[in-house]
Amino acid sequence: MRVRFASSEGFYRQLKERVDAYFRRTGFSRHDSPRMYAKAAILLTWLVTTYVLLMFVASTWWQAVPLAILLGFAVAGIGFNLGHDGAHGSISGFSFVNGVLARTFDLMGASSYIWHFKHNVLHHSYPNIIGADEDIDAGPMARLSPHQPHYWIHRFQFIYLWILYGFLLIKWQFYDDYRCVACARIAAQPIPRPKGWQLVSFVLGKGAFLTWTLALPLMLHSVWDVVLLYLLTSFTSGVTLSVVFQLAHATESAAFPEVTAERPRCEQEWAVHQVLTTVDFARSNRLLNWYLGGLNFQVEHHLFPHIAHIHYPALARIVEAVCAEYDLRYVAHPTLAQALAAHHRWLLRMGRPGPWTGAAEWTGVAGMGKTEELSQVGAP
Ligand SMILES: [Zn+2]
Repeated sequence: MRVRFASSEGFYRQLKERVDAYFRRTGFSRHDSPRMYAKAAILLTWLVTTYVLLMFVASTWWQAVPLAILLGFAVAGIGFNLGHDGAHGSISGFSFVNGVLARTFDLMGASSYIWHFKHNVLHHSYPNIIGADEDIDAGPMARLSPHQPHYWIHRFQFIYLWILYGFLLIKWQFYDDYRCVACARIAAQPIPRPKGWQLVSFVLGKGAFLTWTLALPLMLHSVWDVVLLYLLTSFTSGVTLSVVFQLAHATESAAFPEVTAERPRCEQEWAVHQVLTTVDFARSNRLLNWYLGGLNFQVEHHLFPHIAHIHYPALARIVEAVCAEYDLRYVAHPTLAQALAAHHRWLLRMGRPGPWTGAAEWTGVAGMGKTEELSQVGAP
């Protein structure tokens, strides 16, 4: 399916002009911020420290369990900040640096080659479009869009999906990537099969992941200990990664335009589609602003994925102001708890059978009344 967007009516051009003016006025660089490199050092130190403590120091379950959970959060943090941003080329002006940091995904067991197509190409081009965006296609157990078929089990998805989210990273590590390579396809979209160096890199990445997560620990510890702690670490990373991505798109505040092979045209221009299908959350939370790598500013991320995420709080003011001028709905859930509640309500709503009657609410009108005060947005 080749999705087409309506031609531009000037929204994105206006946004880019304001953002360019912001960088000219402040003199900030879009990349290579010392804050980003300090963050990379902290996250990698966090990962190595918890791993070494687990391998060589922990001798009881009450030492190993919290360390495995901390290791899981470190892996998710590296995914948010280094893998994701490196893959977008937003950390450095040097593509080599971005390329190396993007490879942290391979260390997590998720191929950076497949991620490029799955996330950068398909998700960022076509968020919330069935058949193109695999982020809202979590298999038959999950109904995340009103355009997916309803099964009886979806009535209970508001309970079990939170647990299944924890297993998505494991599925990704051991099944999804291999299926994508074997079928040369992500969702309904064809992708090129890795060849030559790309294939070598894919295999080396999977090998490196299996070595540090399973092979090395098995040399020192029992199979049960290694498997259980691997599952706990991966569950922690999986639920953290999945929930953060879901809070931005699979929520009652996001739009789900119906685009099919027969009607492959979106009614809005690309940038407007990004705003309508995406939601910010907890923009004033300093801890989340640091840890989530700008993914709580997903509206800004979808509009400017090549700019380092440390600038997103400042860009949010610009994006919100331009959206208001264009009478375009812009939603930011003020807190993490409110974003979680909105996702929970969406799972409940999608769990009910019958036609979805709320579509008229999400056509891009302004004044949804869920946007924070601009003054609450944190300083860059
Ligand atoms: Zn992204």
